[in-house]
Amino acid sequence: MTRILPADQTGSATVATRTPGQLSLFSPPFRLACRDREQSGAARGRAVVTFPEPATPAASRRALRAEAAPRQARLRAIVDPGAHERALAAALRVYLPPGKALELRLTNNHYSMISVRRKPDGYRLRLHRMFIGAEPRIVRALGRYVVHNDRRASRVLGDYIDGHQHIIKKQPRKARQVNLRTTGIHHDLRAIFDRLNEERFDRALDARITWGPVVAHGARRSIKMGSFAVEDKIIRIHPVLDKPDVPEFFVAWIVFHEMLHGKHDIVRKGRRRIFHGPAFVDEERTYPDHQRATEWERANLDRLLGG
Ligand SMILES: [Zn+2]
Repeated sequence: MTRILPADQTGSATVATRTPGQLSLFSPPFRLACRDREQSGAARGRAVVTFPEPATPAASRRALRAEAAPRQARLRAIVDPGAHERALAAALRVYLPPGKALELRLTNNHYSMISVRRKPDGYRLRLHRMFIGAEPRIVRALGRYVVHNDRRASRVLGDYIDGHQHIIKKQPRKARQVNLRTTGIHHDLRAIFDRLNEERFDRALDARITWGPVVAHGARRSIKMGSFAVEDKIIRIHPVLDKPDVPEFFVAWIVFHEMLHGKHDIVRKGRRRIFHGPAFVDEERTYPDHQRATEWERANLDRLLGG
């Protein structure tokens, strides 16, 4: 479960996944890995989009775009390394204020999924390649995130990043010796897990649980509060939740969410994998503290991101 914070107006923002360990959340990439390899020659491209004069009406900007962008995307996608950048930049520019330029670069970064730098004359945006071919809804959310720091857009993008973890290239696998740490200073994950397993899963859920590693960080823009590693069935809970002012019902709700990943299979829809399918979401909503926990999260996310 990843949550990201809206970027601040003036500075830069980076949306990241936390540790390589979390990348093991999903089974090895299959078809998507092939696609990634085909496209990897394009990694170095760069697109700079400058707007027409500020006086140009929005309608005519749109008309220009309709003429140019799709053709570029269609004809050059395979041979032209910069095509993906240009296509995405062209799709994004309709959401930018007049007179602002957009410099877009696609990356294969393991850590940073979205990074925005604001300059007086425009935006410098670095995006993970998982955003190639993103549907219009996601492009619109990116636009709102870059320009307006829109909170709902942050949420949409957080979910998108969660759903596309398999595109992030895996780090070479280290030999795995997992030390489980269930007893925190304030919250006991073992006790929470066992209670939920009894109450909600007829003790049938087979998984282990641990607090995740404490990682030094600067200003955090996103947080992965919990993860479920399919391969070794380990639930990891972010140590930032092991605080006296984080209520147990909230920790339990995060644990419950990750336990549901152990119960519900990933739904495949063509090439897409849906991690929170309808059955998952329905069951999550039956949780008595669902409402209370989401409200608490909304009110306290900034504080959690602060460490
Ligand atoms: Zn989830």
